[in-house]
Amino acid sequence: MDMVQLNNGVQMPQLGFGVFQMTDLAECEQAVVDAIASGYRLIDTAAAYHNEAAVGRAIKRSGVAREELFITSKLWVSDASYERAKKGIDQSLQNLGVDYLDLYLLHQPFGDVIGAWRALEEAYKAGKIRAIGVSNFYADQLKNLILSTDVKPVINQIEVNPWYQEHSEVAFAQAEEIQVEAWAPFAEGKHNIFTDDRIAAIGSRYGKSNGQVILRWLLQRGIVVIPKSVHQNRMAENINVFDFELTTAEMATMNDLDKGESQFFDHRDPAAIEQIFGTSLAALKENK
Ligand code: NAP
Repeated sequence: MDMVQLNNGVQMPQLGFGVFQMTDLAECEQAVVDAIASGYRLIDTAAAYHNEAAVGRAIKRSGVAREELFITSKLWVSDASYERAKKGIDQSLQNLGVDYLDLYLLHQPFGDVIGAWRALEEAYKAGKIRAIGVSNFYADQLKNLILSTDVKPVINQIEVNPWYQEHSEVAFAQAEEIQVEAWAPFAEGKHNIFTDDRIAAIGSRYGKSNGQVILRWLLQRGIVVIPKSVHQNRMAENINVFDFELTTAEMATMNDLDKGESQFFDHRDPAAIEQIFGTSLAALKENK
């Protein structure tokens, strides 16, 4: 497994396992046990996925030492204030049944982001979290956070996949020494990504699937990837991407696939913000 070094010196696997939308908790627990058995060491969950406890049970069942694993969780918008974040961090630790988290992210750039970040900084300095970062931040929001606080985020976890490539956001983060981590690396299968002919033509040269070519393209861009699957054969397929390399021409072919828009929703669209985060922001206002 290739590793990346974060800007605070912590080492992180470049490929991990995501558990979004694993709402069947028995299935989630078994999937994480299977993923760890398949060689995954980085597990990406979030308070908002409501499966931290299942991930925690899987970690215990896996038989792999805690220090060999890299566990990420995220603080949801309804806890995005200084006081609420302190509780949210402790809640994630308790749900997961661990003494420390390897990485904890502000899940969204909404709510009292600076206040919440101060709570993450305190937990980081207290040794509860080895590295702190953000998710779904754009360059201006990252810059604001960096200039307003003491500890620089180590990571920005954003949507990056062949249909939404985010070259300028990736370049900005990389210039700031903030590691980019791609969520939905497969765009959750949209637009027939697993059978697309252009990707398949590249894969056929190496005996690799579309999924493997996509992950390889992201890895070669210096990005951390966290594909999700509940199927053991796909887990094995998705981690088997360290024995081939795309050429410069193949990287360019992949770059040409960009549709230039999110495959899910625009985090900058006021209507989407209200629809998706409005209830959480109202709860935050009430509980502050
Ligand atoms: P994804 O990894 O792009 O796609 C997952 C889908 O692809 C599932 O339907 C899975 O099906 C299928 N799949 C996986 N490997 C496959 C393969 N080799 N061949 C064919 N199909 C395959 O989507 P995602 O889960 O949304 O994103 C990955 C992780 O990113 C999440 O789990 C989560 O940890 C993180 N994430 C973060 C945010 C954020 O806001 N920070 C947002 C979304 C996601 P099966 O499971 O049935 O195999």
